[in-house]
Amino acid sequence: MSLRTKTVLGIALIEITILMILTFSAMSFLSDSNEQQLIKRANAAATLFSHAAKDSVLSTDLATLNDLVDEFAGLDDVAYVRVLRDGKEMACAGDKDLLDRQMHEDKTLDGVSDGVFDVRVPITVGTTNFAIVDIGFETTMISSMLANAQKAIIAIASIEVVLVAIFSFILGTYLTRGLTRLTTAANKLGQSGPGYQLNHNSSDELGDVARAFDSMSAKLEKDYSDLSSARADAELACDSKSRFLASMSHEIRTPMNGVLGILNILEETNLNKEQKKLVSTATESGHFLLSVINDILDFTRMESNTLILENKAFNVHRCIESVVDTFQPSANAQGLVLHCYIEQDVPKYLVGDENRVKQILLNLIGNAIKFTQEGSIQIKVAGQTIEQNRVSLNCIVTDTGIGISKNALDYLFDEFTMVDQTYSRSKEGSGLGLAICKRLCTLMDGDVTVQSQPQLGSTFSFNIKLEVASQESETEETSTTPDLVRNDLSILVAEDNRANQLVIKEMFKRLGIDIDIAENGLEALKRVEEYRYDLIFMDISMPQMDGMQACHAIRALEDSNTASTPIVALTAHSLAGDKEKFLAAGMNDYLSKPLRLSQLIEKINLFVSKPSPEAMQTSLDESIVDMQPEETKLTQNIEVETKLWGRRKEDKDLELVDEKILQQMIEDTSAEVIPLLIDHYVEESNQRLDKIYIAMDASDKETLEFEAHTLGSSSLALGNRTLSNLARKIEHLCIEGQQESAFKLKEELQILADNSLNALEQRKLKGFTESAG
Ligand code: ADP
Repeated sequence: MSLRTKTVLGIALIEITILMILTFSAMSFLSDSNEQQLIKRANAAATLFSHAAKDSVLSTDLATLNDLVDEFAGLDDVAYVRVLRDGKEMACAGDKDLLDRQMHEDKTLDGVSDGVFDVRVPITVGTTNFAIVDIGFETTMISSMLANAQKAIIAIASIEVVLVAIFSFILGTYLTRGLTRLTTAANKLGQSGPGYQLNHNSSDELGDVARAFDSMSAKLEKDYSDLSSARADAELACDSKSRFLASMSHEIRTPMNGVLGILNILEETNLNKEQKKLVSTATESGHFLLSVINDILDFTRMESNTLILENKAFNVHRCIESVVDTFQPSANAQGLVLHCYIEQDVPKYLVGDENRVKQILLNLIGNAIKFTQEGSIQIKVAGQTIEQNRVSLNCIVTDTGIGISKNALDYLFDEFTMVDQTYSRSKEGSGLGLAICKRLCTLMDGDVTVQSQPQLGSTFSFNIKLEVASQESETEETSTTPDLVRNDLSILVAEDNRANQLVIKEMFKRLGIDIDIAENGLEALKRVEEYRYDLIFMDISMPQMDGMQACHAIRALEDSNTASTPIVALTAHSLAGDKEKFLAAGMNDYLSKPLRLSQLIEKINLFVSKPSPEAMQTSLDESIVDMQPEETKLTQNIEVETKLWGRRKEDKDLELVDEKILQQMIEDTSAEVIPLLIDHYVEESNQRLDKIYIAMDASDKETLEFEAHTLGSSSLALGNRTLSNLARKIEHLCIEGQQESAFKLKEELQILADNSLNALEQRKLKGFTESAG
């Protein structure tokens, strides 16, 4: 209901109420005063008549009495007159009907029902009553007068109500007009921004409100323009920050890539012990520098919400184990026990960004190792179904390290936070790791929390929500293993940096591929015009002609076959949106530096596995040839080798043996010693398993926990990873007081242990060579 309607109704209501009270009180006043007048007049007239008739009554002069009665009855409002003596009528005049009825004396007008007010007065001499006089006075005049008065009052009141309604409508309209203008102004302000002025100059309260509105709007306009220019400045600064980061990433990552590549090559030459140590320290520092740069870049991307997570099926168990494996040597070197247990309810394949999941784990486990001097680091991973197709992956990393003070816990996940802020602090770091973890977990609908006690250790727990991979994506994931399909390829690499050229050449040498190198975009264009390449890897920043320009020029060549040669950008640029820029420039794909051999193979396969129809047959034949073990060894790539190994059907049992761990063992020791180690391990494990079975039968929790722990570690060291997982599960059940469930796993353990040890024996028969690693 509008304010105007409310005003009209309100005023009308008040008016009607007051008028009703007024009408009612006027009517009752009028009626009361007329009644009293009538009574007074009737009594006075009756008394006057009784005095006049007294002599005639006493002398029984009926003729005079009759004259008197007739005369009196002839008066306007007298209905009848009667004189009675000793109950007998002496004289009467007036309305016959009224004279015939039984007379009841009236005291008030309320009792009058027949329209006549009856009065009785005595004719007295001294104290003796000689006769009585009855007189009836008509009341109809008063009644009609009262009815007329009521009508007039109601008519006047109605006219007043209508007039008041009209006036209040006009008043309401006048008052609300100001408010309507204010509303329109506020709406305009909302639609087209501050600045709108009402310019309402009245001196009343509405004028005050309008002036307040105008000054608020003017102030808002000023603030708005200040804010807009501040925002433009901030955006400009942010843009420069991004540009600075882009160039910094390029300027540092490109030479660093070269340095690391050269160190890598240097490591494989004949070096004495001292030189090896120096090279490894330099490599370590280089990797640390790269990781800090990557952290800063990651964080900047998260800040600007430009970090996009991948959504690909990946093997969760392998993902977690590979991170744990990475840390195993450093944990061993520090004398720490690094222990990982993945619950069976963790699905094998999930859909998400494997590298980012790894990043969280790398940060947390890395910190745990960094801040623990002695004791152990435990990683426990569990899965919890939250919806039909989604699980929450819950991971707990517990260490027995230096712990974190209570007040530091509050800001631990803030960026650039290091608990030990002193210049003398012993551990290096950027203070960004946990902030990145927190943001990554949030991006994956989860969270990360910490509990810690100084000197006792810390527990970092994180959960992320991921979709369970469908059957098809599992097959897809396993089929994208990067094994090189052909190596008789003609490849051009455009790269100006000498060190990088060396690294890339070395990588391709390992793949058995000779490449052509162009020093810059111009040279690359010349070479492409002269020779038909299968694939071009193109650096972006180069002198004379950069990668983007070269790509444009190649795409513009007349020969359509040459113009459509696949081009993969090779760059240290890795800011958000870069990939899109390269693709828009005509590049087919993008590889970020520092390069990894497996990524290089992946890209080569991506583009050379789609040959022209005539080349199809040759390519297929070559692929089959390439699948032979001897040929694949050419790649000398552990990952490729391991995956091929796992795929061979006749060696299905060997899945119980993790080839990667064995290769690592060969690298750490020597190929000759492995069979001896296996013999020793099998013999020892059999003895240990006997003890475990006895402990299970005898419900001996302590022995079971101890032996399962030892079996878990030794079986992992020699690649019996599945057996190690089951042993760790048994150990955990004992630690958590659920030994009854552990005892029930005896049969499962017997079967798995037999198969795992057999598989290892079979693998031993195939022999080990240094070169295989
Ligand atoms: P940094 O690169 O310095 O490790 P992080 O963000 O990963 O950055 O960690 C921030 C700080 O939190 C560390 O410098 C350290 O003081 C503290 N911290 C992290 N993890 C642990 C842990 N497991 N034990 C003790 N302190 C830790």
